[in-house]
This record gives sequence, structure tokens and C-alpha cells, in this order.
Amino acid sequence: MEDFSTPMMKQYLAIKAQYKDCLLFFRLGDFYELFLDDAQIGATVLNITLTSRPRGKDGRIPMAGVPYHAVDSYLAKLVKAGYKVAICEQMSLPDKRGIVDREVIRIVTPGTVLDENALSKKDNNYIISLGIKDQILALAVADISTGYFATTELKFDNLQQTLADQLAKLNPSECLLSPELYKNFELLKVLKVSKNLNVYSFAEWSELTDRADNYLKKHFKVENLDGFGLKKNSLAAEVAAALIGYLKITQQSQIEHILKIVNFEDRDYLGLDRSTIINLELFSTIRDHDLRGSLLSVIDQTLTPMGGRMIKQWLIKPLINEVQINHRLDTVEVFVNDLAWREGISQMLSQIPDIERLLSRVSVGLGNARDLVNLKIALVKLLEVKQELVKSKLTLIKQINNNLSSKLDKVIELIDTQIAELPPIDLRIGSLIKEGVKPELDKLRTQVSKSRQWVATLEQTERQRTGISSLKVRFNKVFGFYIEVSKSNLNLIPDDYIRKQTLVNGERYITPDLKHHEEIILSAEEIINNLEYELFLEVVKKVLSQVKIIQQAAEAVGTLDCLVGFATLANQSGYTRPNLIKTGQIKITAGRHPVVEQLLEDKSFVPNDIYLDNREDQLLMVTGPNMAGKSVLIRQVALISLMAQIGCFVPAKKAELTIVDQIFVRSGASDVITANLSTFMVEMVETAFILNRATAKSLIIMDEIGRGTSTYDGISLAWAVAEHLIANPKVTPKTLFATHYHELQRLEEFYPQKIKNYSMAVEENGENLNFLHTFILGGASHSFGVAVAKLAGVPQSVIESARQKLKDLEKRDLPISNSLVQNDQADLNSFLERFLYKELIDLDIHQMTPLEALNKLSELKNKLRLLSYADNIPATS
Ligand code: ADP
Repeated sequence: MEDFSTPMMKQYLAIKAQYKDCLLFFRLGDFYELFLDDAQIGATVLNITLTSRPRGKDGRIPMAGVPYHAVDSYLAKLVKAGYKVAICEQMSLPDKRGIVDREVIRIVTPGTVLDENALSKKDNNYIISLGIKDQILALAVADISTGYFATTELKFDNLQQTLADQLAKLNPSECLLSPELYKNFELLKVLKVSKNLNVYSFAEWSELTDRADNYLKKHFKVENLDGFGLKKNSLAAEVAAALIGYLKITQQSQIEHILKIVNFEDRDYLGLDRSTIINLELFSTIRDHDLRGSLLSVIDQTLTPMGGRMIKQWLIKPLINEVQINHRLDTVEVFVNDLAWREGISQMLSQIPDIERLLSRVSVGLGNARDLVNLKIALVKLLEVKQELVKSKLTLIKQINNNLSSKLDKVIELIDTQIAELPPIDLRIGSLIKEGVKPELDKLRTQVSKSRQWVATLEQTERQRTGISSLKVRFNKVFGFYIEVSKSNLNLIPDDYIRKQTLVNGERYITPDLKHHEEIILSAEEIINNLEYELFLEVVKKVLSQVKIIQQAAEAVGTLDCLVGFATLANQSGYTRPNLIKTGQIKITAGRHPVVEQLLEDKSFVPNDIYLDNREDQLLMVTGPNMAGKSVLIRQVALISLMAQIGCFVPAKKAELTIVDQIFVRSGASDVITANLSTFMVEMVETAFILNRATAKSLIIMDEIGRGTSTYDGISLAWAVAEHLIANPKVTPKTLFATHYHELQRLEEFYPQKIKNYSMAVEENGENLNFLHTFILGGASHSFGVAVAKLAGVPQSVIESARQKLKDLEKRDLPISNSLVQNDQADLNSFLERFLYKELIDLDIHQMTPLEALNKLSELKNKLRLLSYADNIPATS
């Protein structure tokens, strides 16, 4: 039996027992101490010294500590590493046994941390909670650092896909599950897709969800939940209640800044799934997971943290409503045209601090007086911005202007009249409140200052009175004020001096007058400090009563920041306003890839024209060798469409765009969703997903589909997919189909009314290749693979050998022709092959487990192998 007999260790263990899943930061004087296993973890993660304290007669208890004033940076590290930390504070002075009361005052977790050290300025820090029932996934999401709270219900036929899409959009750092769901191994595996995610089981889940509706009504102070778009007893309400409850528990506060539930309906926005977000490199590059090189890094010119977070939300939710898009574009346009105005506003924006996070800190009781002063400064700036907007009649600017409420004046005045200009961070040492706020406070301060004045002059007057020139007046915590006289002068001591302490070299004295003033100073100061703290709390309360208008203003400034940023970008990078049309066409003149053009230092990017529609130019088959620029070109079309739909100008000379409802981007070299699926299987699942989801309004980008398998498999698969995309006269998604299988150009012959061949121009110069990066009508003559290998520096002997092999193979070229003409065995095979792939695609892969799908796939592949090209198929396939 372990012996933790000291009263303090008993107290520690009792508290720790309530917070088993947390590291317990136990306040001991100026330190937070970790004990036992926690200490071992702390020492390793934080790189601090592991020490120990005596246990009973002979053992030792491992312990490690961090100084209280630096706790934030340590918390940030632990939370980043996925730990939850319970902060346990001293709540009283020591009692007779030397024990102080201690209580956990907040729990810091990856998704609820509020310390600046742990948060990235321009990122939301999302925590989510999930519920699954029948075919419905309910999701609540909050960012406690900004006050954002949303919930939704999503119908799914493939949970993995639906969940992965949401995770890709939110990139949450914490996920709560009910204890039952936490046992669902399959679900946990899917959640692992999200790299930063920490998944926890929440013990109080059902306690909160059982009375979800009432709990939410109480928190949001509403009579019913209809206003938030929540149905009675819905799963969405349950996950929302669990999340609100968790936030309250971790913050030990009423989280008053979480004021409303946003009901985020994906239907209202352009659909982007996980693969598309990754393949378009919207937020980070595929190769290095780096922000640099992403679309965001190029288009984010925002100057405030609110704007920085807003632009990300826009990127995952591009608009589909023409009027709304045009409102944004109108606003960007006026800022493009009025440089002076824009620069004036930019200047102001650049000085606005993070209002949302200031407010959140204040709301959960972590804010100090300096936060209020900063809030005031921010609000003053907001009203300056408001002044600038008055002149415009544009819808969106008027809206922004309205949301920068003139009532903010009241908040500014409140803070300005009450809170000192430069208050200390510590709330318990006074100097928080201005003069003239409370007569009682002023009176006490005058008293204190008079007495301080008296003490300050005492040294001088006593030196004169006693003639002791070395006499000193000093203060320490034990004796308070005292007069110190050296041994040699003791004979000059006046009668009213009372001896307090004898030192080696002298004596310390007090006088009745000194004691009197000391009492005034010390007792009044304590009263003052308490009074100031109370007054501070009152100001906080009043500020919090205005949370709504402050949050609204912060959001408005975020919107303005994004739009002004788009205008700056348009000017800097030569973007133009896209023109939204309804004809179903996409017409881009001299379009560029926004990211690649910036990466090419010598400004050598070659612009290209692109035309797509729902008729003869529905599917563009883009061929050309590797490195010719196919991927760049086809992605550029998707990026231009997406940029337009978030209200941004686009990199093109002219862009006439039909609004798209979904963008799908697939790449044959895409990453693998879960470890137990082969890359090719992923490709198949994703392809099936597109084929089932796309509408006539969708834009599909297929890059090297079928690359994950053997050449013949690959060509056949790509062929069948392309055919499927144009097969349905009602579902005619605009498609860019890039492939280095030049054989696919034959499709144009069969479907001239749907498909056009294009290629990336290359100049052949003897054995060498010159990439022109120009998009031209007509297919490529061959794949140039060997020439590209040569460019890459593959040894000449290998190149020679490859050329020979290629010649041999080309003699036995794969015949693929119109399925209606089945006049020889090869054509029949080709037809059957496509038939089989269709069979595969028509299968509802969503309904299968990955293993079933994989088995089905190899069954089909075997059938293919049996019947096809018995003599001309190369052994490698
Ligand atoms: P592919 O998909 O045909 O293999 P990529 O699209 O990946 O080729 O392009 C290869 C490289 O060519 C790019 O990394 C880029 O440096 C360059 N490139 C592509 N398109 C252009 C262009 N329009 N202008 C200039 N350089 C380009």
C-alpha cells in the first residue's frame, strides 16, 4: 500500500481522482506541481527536471513543477501534444494545519485552450462533437476562442466519406464522443484521418443529451430552438448540448460569448469534398503539408485575425447564389478602383487586434484589465472604419456599416471612464480603476497617498531631528516599516523610538506615528485592491452584456478585411472581375494558375484559353507528356471557378463563368485515406463517388485516373469513366480529363458531340522535348515518356533500351474502337472490358466494406484477364 500520509498529498489524490483523464497542475506557492505519473509525463513532454519529495518513512514521490507566471507556454506544449490539463488553484490562506483549500478552476484541452501561445492567429481552433443514428451524422462545432458555434445533421450513405469531408474542412483539434460511440473502432479509425485531432470520450454525455432541448434553451435564453433551425429532440440538438456542457465544464464558466447556433447547411454552398480540398491544395500543399504553395497563401491578404479566419471559412464554403457572389465582387471592384480609399481602410485594419479572442478571454474569466483597454482601442478603430464606409451605397458595405454598431460607443465610454489607461496584468494589486469612478475609492487612495507621503519624508525629518545622518527608513514583509540605526549612533536615539529587532551592526525601531501610517497604508490598500477588483468585475459584466454587438462588429470587420484583401490581391497580381453567366459555359481567356504563376520567378507562366459547356465541349480530353502542364491547366480551371465563387477576382484576362454546384478533383496519385485500402482502391471508391454525385452543374477534374494499376487496366478504367461521364444526357458535368494515355483520344471519334481532344503543346527537337505549356485543340501524338525520362537525367543506356522496348510494344498496340463494331476478337475484348468496368462502377461500393469491394475488384480484374488479349498483353500487367 502506498503511503501518502501528508494532508496535502491526501488532498492531491482526492482531487486527482476526479480528473483522472487530465494532468493535474497543482498550485503550490509560486509553482504548479505535477506528481507521480503526471510528473513523469510532464518531465518528458515539457523537458523539465523530474525531482521527488519524501513519501512516508523512506520512499519518494516523483514530482515536477513549472513556475506559475510562465504556465501558459507549458500548457500550450502539453495541449499540442494532446494532453488535457486541470488547473488546480489555492483558494484560501493556510489554515492551522498549514493546509489551503484547492479547487480545479479550469480544464485546458486541445480544443478549448484560450492561451495565445497555443492558438494560431489566423486559424480557428475547432472542437466538435459527433452523433450517429440511422443514416444521419450530427455534428456540432465550436471555437470557444471566437464564440463560433454551429450544428448540423448530414444524411450519409458513406459515413467515412461524409465524415472525412467535414474533417478536411474544419481541421478540428478535439472531438467528443459519447462513451458508447467511443467504443466504435471503425469510427475511431475514420477520425484518425484528421491529423491534429484528439478524440475523447465524454462521461457526462447522456446526462446532457437526455435533456438537450431544455439545456440549449436555457443557455441561449430562448423559448424554442426553431430560430436556430433545430427540430425538437433532434440529434443535432443532442450533440450541441453535449458540446455546450463540455465547454462549461472545462471553462468553469457560463461561456456567455457563445450566443447563437449557426445551422450550417452544406446545401447552401459549393460542394467540396476532402479529396478536392487536398488535391486543389487549398490550405496546404500535398507534398509538404505546408501553407506556402497553397491557394490560401496566395489569396490571403487579410490584415486582421478576424479576416484571416474568415477567408478560410469562405474557402470551404464558396457561394452558389449569384446575387451574393456579385455583392462581394461589386465591393471588391470599388476597392480595386479607389486605391486611396482602400489604402486608408487597410491602414486602419492593420491596427485592429483580435477582438473575438479578447472578448472570449474576458467572457470565461481569463481576461484582465489590459484586455479591456485593448478591446477599447479596437472598438475605437472599428468606429473609425465605420466612418470610412458611410459614403458607400453598396449593399454589402452598407451591411458591414450597420453591423459596426454605433452603440459600440457606449462600451468604449464605459471602459474609458472606468479602467486605467495602463493597468497591471495582475488583477489583485490595484491600479485598475480610474480616479472619479467611486468616491470611496478616491478617499481611500488620498489617505494612502498622504500616509505614503509622510513615510517618504520620514527619513529626512528623522535625520534632522536625531542628527543621525545614516538613519534609514525601510519596509519588509515581516516587520512592515521600520527605522534602522547603526550601532555607533545608538546613543542618539530619541525616547519615542521602540526597539523591534537587534542586528549585528545596529537596531531596528518603530514609532507610534510610523505604526499609525503603516496601518493606514496596509489596511487601506487591501480594501482598495478588493474594491478595484470588484469594480473591474462590474465593468466586465457590463461589457459582456454587449457581447452581441461586439461579435457582430468583429465579424463585419472580418468580412471587410477579406474584401479589401481581394482588391489588394487583384491589383498586385493583375486579376480581373469574373462575369457570372447562366449559359452553362465556362469561358476563360488567358487564364493562369494563381499559385504556379507566383512560383515561377521569371514570370514565364503561359496563359491559356479554356472553353467548356454542357454540349459539344462537355469533356475535354487533355493529353500530352508528363511535365507538359496538364495538371496545372485543369486545376487552374477549378481554382478560377472557386475563386470567383468566394467573390475574388481571378487570374485571367477575361472569365465568363457559369456557377458550379460542386467541384470534384481527383488525381491518380492522390493520398490514401485509410491505411488498409490500396491506392487504386481509393481511386475507385472516389471515382464511384463522383459518378454518383455529379450533376449537370458540376465541374470535374480528373487527373491521370487509372494510373494506380497496370497500363491496360488503367486505360480501360479511364475509358469507362469518361464514357460514363458523358453517357447521361441529363447529367452533363463539365469535365477536364487529363491523361498521358494517348489512346484515350480515340473517344473523341466515338463521341464527337460531347468530347474534344486537347493537348499541351510540346516541341520535339530531335530526341529532346521542349514544353510550350500551351493548350491546343487536338490530341498528342504519343506519350513521350521516354523523352521525359531523358530530361530527368535517366542514364543513356536505359533510355536506349526503353526506346527499343517501346517500339516492340507499339507494334502490338492495344486496339480500342467503337463498341458497336465488334468485328474481331480484340474489339470484342475491348467491349467486354468496358462492360465489366461499368459493372464495377454501377456497383454501389458505398454499401460494401473495403474488403468486399476489394474482393469484387479482383474478381472483375481476373475476369478481364481471362478474356482479354490472351496473346498480346504484356506479362507485366
Ligand atoms: P503534367 O500534369 O502534364 O505532368 P504539370 O501540370 O504538373 O505537368 O506541370 C509541370 C510543370 O510545368 C509545372 O510544375 C510548372 O513548373 C510548369 N508549367 C505548367 N504549366 C505551365 C504554364 N502554363 N506556364 C509555365 N509553366 C508551366
